[in-house]
Amino acid sequence: MDTIIQGISTFRAQIFPGQRQMYEQLVRDGQHPNALIIACADSRVSPEHITQAGPGELFVCRNAGNIVPPFAQQNGGVSSAIEYAVVALGVRDIVVCGHSDCGAMKGLMNPEALAKMPNVAAWLRHATAAERIVCEAYPADMDPKQHHRALALENVIVQLANLRTHPSVAAALAKGELRLHGWFFEIETGTLLAYDGEAGRFVPLGHDDGLPVAEAPAPRVAAPEYARVAAE
Ligand SMILES: [Zn+2]
Repeated sequence: MDTIIQGISTFRAQIFPGQRQMYEQLVRDGQHPNALIIACADSRVSPEHITQAGPGELFVCRNAGNIVPPFAQQNGGVSSAIEYAVVALGVRDIVVCGHSDCGAMKGLMNPEALAKMPNVAAWLRHATAAERIVCEAYPADMDPKQHHRALALENVIVQLANLRTHPSVAAALAKGELRLHGWFFEIETGTLLAYDGEAGRFVPLGHDDGLPVAEAPAPRVAAPEYARVAAE
């Protein structure tokens, strides 16, 4: 804890005085974050650090395995964060961010290792589909490292699917007001991969190539004859 206390002391004495106006303004004007990021709680995966975002710029929700429970199954912190970000804050972008060397994914691969962690085991059931995809749709002779990477990538896609079950997200998508992103942070190289929904694969984020999106804003309703757009 000494390191943490020292950090607080440094923040108050050296950092905060220079940023006081910004913090005061953030209270005066309220927060208007650019995006909601759902990332793993892993200490090596800091969304703010990876994106170089400052206070007020990201609405962050972190948990073991960057998991999004489907709407109907669990009323908890993740569901509330999503609803608040979309409805109250009006965020237009949601990112699900997985990463390399993820302990949660290792747990999915080795359920027996979770015998003494019943809460973790229950939580990871929300990612079971990803493990099934890797076991049935990928080559059986992959080594554990390849299996782990495939699992972490597929988990991002599965959690994006879970995200779409949330009414606030589904409605915002139908109105064309929301973009979904699937990211994967490779800790050892600092590389960020983004899921390109059109190409159906993850691609490295370049400097000039723009940002591939998992799902672009595209208003769509099943009964277009009643659509607001048609009526107006
Ligand atoms: Zn992780």
